[in-house]
Amino acid sequence: NKQVILRDYVKDSPKESDLVIVSNTVELKVKSGSSTILVKNLYLSCDPYMGILMREPNSSTMALLDAYVPGKPLVGVGVSKVIDSDDPAFAKGDYVSAVVDWEEYTTIKTPIISKIDVNINVPLSYYTGLLGMAGLTAYAGFFEICSPKKGETVFVSAASGAVGHLVGQFAKLMGCYVVGSAGSKQKVDLLVNKLGFDDAFNYKEEPDLDSALKRCFPKGIDIYFENVGGKMLDAVLLNMKKYGRISVCGMISQYHLETRDRVHNLPDIMFKRIRMQGFVCGDFQDRFPKFLEYVLPYIKEGKLNYVEDIVKGLDNGPAALVGLYHGKNFGKQVLEVARE
Ligand code: NDP
Repeated sequence: NKQVILRDYVKDSPKESDLVIVSNTVELKVKSGSSTILVKNLYLSCDPYMGILMREPNSSTMALLDAYVPGKPLVGVGVSKVIDSDDPAFAKGDYVSAVVDWEEYTTIKTPIISKIDVNINVPLSYYTGLLGMAGLTAYAGFFEICSPKKGETVFVSAASGAVGHLVGQFAKLMGCYVVGSAGSKQKVDLLVNKLGFDDAFNYKEEPDLDSALKRCFPKGIDIYFENVGGKMLDAVLLNMKKYGRISVCGMISQYHLETRDRVHNLPDIMFKRIRMQGFVCGDFQDRFPKFLEYVLPYIKEGKLNYVEDIVKGLDNGPAALVGLYHGKNFGKQVLEVARE
């Protein structure tokens, strides 16, 4: 049973060398009376928050989730197949979406597991993203936090990523004007030519983010879907309209800085009566059925483009995860541990 282990708490941005692959033997059976199931992990979700959990815990990070433990495997969301079960709710051969260790086989208790409905007929990997955390995050973060209206202007940062590319398309589907920022020309092309964004720019090549935003939004921004923080947030505040909304989904540019960027334009929140709200997707777990009702027809009708970046093999897990902090991924970063 191969595992991806955290070597020690990380200080700067996570590196591949912070993780190590080990192997041990496990019995591929559950204990009778244990109420557990044994799963074979097929797909693992690579998520930016995992880097936060690799740091020594403090009061901020502990408000998010329990930190990883040096010497123990990473923990994340996976799609897995039931190999053995001591729980009547799950049978051998069922597919589940569950919180699992980063390893080939995991024994789990049931409350944190949901069974995958194979009748929905989408690739199983979608449950690590579109029909999992990224999808619900995009849906709740946009519709519930931003209260969007048709015709409003929407800006999405990290727009070609797992959450961002869905937010942009949800906003287009409801008739908003949508602009995204991303870190390369190829990503900008993807946004405009394949995903239907009205405009996009490469933030790494803009000498002045404020001017870039003024060019894209001459009349200002109604809604900002925040994924990166720092300098981008500062520039956005200058370009928000009165009564604008900012959904703080993430601030990936700030997670691993020793000294975080100063945001200078916070007074604009008051001047412009902006509503800025942070959230985590887990807060909206009860909206999942409503989210499925919303998103499945779009998937069936081919009106939603879902981009996945699938890296194969647990050995490549460290590179896949660390790549998120260097913009290596296009769309949702998934690690394929096994196909079946
Ligand atoms: P992505 O698929 O968007 O991957 C991360 C992307 O962030 C990279 O591809 C890169 O794109 C960009 N990035 C990395 N470093 C920087 C940097 N220093 N400055 C600017 N951009 C950077 O990940 P997700 O879609 O999963 O997550 C997006 C955001 O949403 C993250 O902040 C994450 O923490 C947050 N999140 C929050 C959730 C919640 O419940 N609140 C749930 C899920 C995600 P590029 O090439 O464009 O730079």
